[in-house]
Amino acid sequence: MPGIHHVTAIAGDPAKNFNFYTRDLGLRFVKKTVNFDDPSTYHFYFGDATGSPGTILTFFVWPKAVAGSRGGGEVHQTAFRVPVSSLDYWTKRLAERGVACQAMETRFSERILPFSDPDGMRLMLVGVVGAESEPAWNNDDIPQEHAIRGFHGATLVLDSTEKTGAILTDVLGFREVGREGTLIRFAASGESKGCLIDLQEKKGIARGHQGLGSVHHIAFRAVNDAEQAVMVGKLISGHQRHPTEQKDRNYFRSIYFREPGGVLFEIATDIPGFAVDESVETLGRNLKLPSFLEARRSEIERVLPALEA
Ligand code: ZN
Repeated sequence: MPGIHHVTAIAGDPAKNFNFYTRDLGLRFVKKTVNFDDPSTYHFYFGDATGSPGTILTFFVWPKAVAGSRGGGEVHQTAFRVPVSSLDYWTKRLAERGVACQAMETRFSERILPFSDPDGMRLMLVGVVGAESEPAWNNDDIPQEHAIRGFHGATLVLDSTEKTGAILTDVLGFREVGREGTLIRFAASGESKGCLIDLQEKKGIARGHQGLGSVHHIAFRAVNDAEQAVMVGKLISGHQRHPTEQKDRNYFRSIYFREPGGVLFEIATDIPGFAVDESVETLGRNLKLPSFLEARRSEIERVLPALEA
């Protein structure tokens, strides 16, 4: 089942980030853990009830990071799907909660509400026909009928789209489905959540600076290790990309490579998922550490900032 697995971005203040995504947007807090490569900092995961692939937005929480600036070779917009009839609800809700929205737009015949998170990450809510029949997490505040259903897609801005498009279609299970203005739309088959990638070509665009509000990387789905290995083979033989060795991220297993346009791509397995170290009912409640960091738990807990005042 191809598509987006997760998107990982950079946030500064853990409490602001937590409150925005769980309270303002109503996502489920699926996992509280640390950056495995820097365990003095949080890694947060938000998603649907189980953190299923195609719904997972994750953050490296780096309080000392400076603001990022957008440029070429980056994910510029991350889009969530909501029912078409919910866009009015969200326009009002975000305004009431002090979230600045931009004017509504239309893209490929779908209505879009663009806005930003507290760190300047660019987000969109897209009114999608049929989304009302999809399951959604209930945060006890947002009426279930209006809740976010998961990712719709992401927009990548590139100096040149050709080689990136070839990797999407040859390796990652997408096909080109439309063009509008400077956008080329690719869709993954067989899945509703997280199935769209829009490539926007901006010739000569300078690289941005990664920082607060930047997307660090985007991950695509592989069902299991075997499918991931086939994808790695295609990257090497057909696209002159040389991914990292597989890394165990506890909740999925991943390889990483820099795609030709400059965006850091990951391929993550659907298995084992977030219920591997706590029950579905209690996801996100306690700080979870991989086994190799358990011995350092008290030291790690001492340096992590408090999440809720
Ligand atoms: Zn990742």
